[in-house]
Amino acid sequence: MIDFKDVSKVYENGSVALSHVSLHIGKGEFVFVVGASGAGKSTFIKMLSHEELPSQGSVFVDGIEVNKLPKSRVPYLRRKMGIVFQDFRLLPNKTAAENVAFAMEVIESPRKVIKERVRTVLDLVGLLSKADDLPQNLSGGEQQRVAIARAIVNRPLLLIADEPTGNLDPDTSKDIMETFKKINHMGTTVLMVTHDKQMVDLMNKRVIEIVDGKIARDEQKGGYGDED
Ligand code: ADP
Ligand code: ADP
Repeated sequence: MIDFKDVSKVYENGSVALSHVSLHIGKGEFVFVVGASGAGKSTFIKMLSHEELPSQGSVFVDGIEVNKLPKSRVPYLRRKMGIVFQDFRLLPNKTAAENVAFAMEVIESPRKVIKERVRTVLDLVGLLSKADDLPQNLSGGEQQRVAIARAIVNRPLLLIADEPTGNLDPDTSKDIMETFKKINHMGTTVLMVTHDKQMVDLMNKRVIEIVDGKIARDEQKGGYGDED
């Protein structure tokens, strides 16, 4: 699913964000990426979506060599992934259902399919009863559920989450994590950047720790570790 081959990233100002990173993530895995602020986690994720390109090495996503992909093919790459952010990033003037539907409208899915699929994914994240509510009338946890529904509605192979529980209380975080687990069990690869020590320790999944742009630890069934 994901392969990094000796990937380094040096930004124009000379900042070394990644240094000789090689790793493989298989289809269907659930992987946490941890590390202190500035370690290179965001840069790692940006390599997957062609938001930043490596200075050296190769990045493969589902067989596509991302660093050699022409710009015109980037939307095709991004359709393979859904992304969830810490701050939800919902459209404030659209209801939960409309936010989710929008992700399908931009790829010109037929209206009937959109209607069906939006209901299915809202049901999956446990939010069908709030389908017609605006984000401002939803709790943080509910807003994040909408964001997750939106990220998976086009059936991506890869679900990327950047600090998805960063703005949520521990109980809500636990529920959100269960939702990610469910989606993972349905076959979607999940890659999650987090500082949520409690959650990482609880989930008992693969943990990749980045320190100063290098992979310092890569453990199956790992814990959060003691940095931060
Ligand atoms: P993290 O997500 O773990 O906080 P980042 O990938 O954002 O780490 O940053 C890794 C390093 O690269 C840091 O030293 C950061 O300052 C630097 N960096 C990140 N983005 C840029 C950028 N656009 N230009 C220059 N330096 C950057
Ligand atoms: P486009 O960039 O072609 O307008 P979208 O922004 O609608 O496409 O994104 C298409 C898909 O890619 C969506 O599933 C979206 O969540 C995902 N996506 C968009 N930007 C990123 C990114 N920076 N990293 C990872 N996935 C992304």
